[in-house]
Amino acid sequence: MAGMDCDKCLERLYPYLDRELDERELAEVKRHLDDCPPCEGSYVFERRFLDLIRDSCTQDVAPSALRERIVLRLRDLR
Ligand SMILES: [Zn+2]
Repeated sequence: MAGMDCDKCLERLYPYLDRELDERELAEVKRHLDDCPPCEGSYVFERRFLDLIRDSCTQDVAPSALRERIVLRLRDLR
């Protein structure tokens, strides 16, 4: 099995955070995050961001447009 690259890892970051991946994909993302400090940094950033959204909203709503903008910004940071 080919290892996951950074683009694939970042694409799966939200599903990973939301636990929407199957077990194999979860394991692949986790392994990549363990081996890749830049992606792990993105993961920590995203998790904190989602926590903020959840804290400030009573409903679990994160507009997908907002998510996309954040992902694009993270890519610029790399
Ligand atoms: Zn990476």
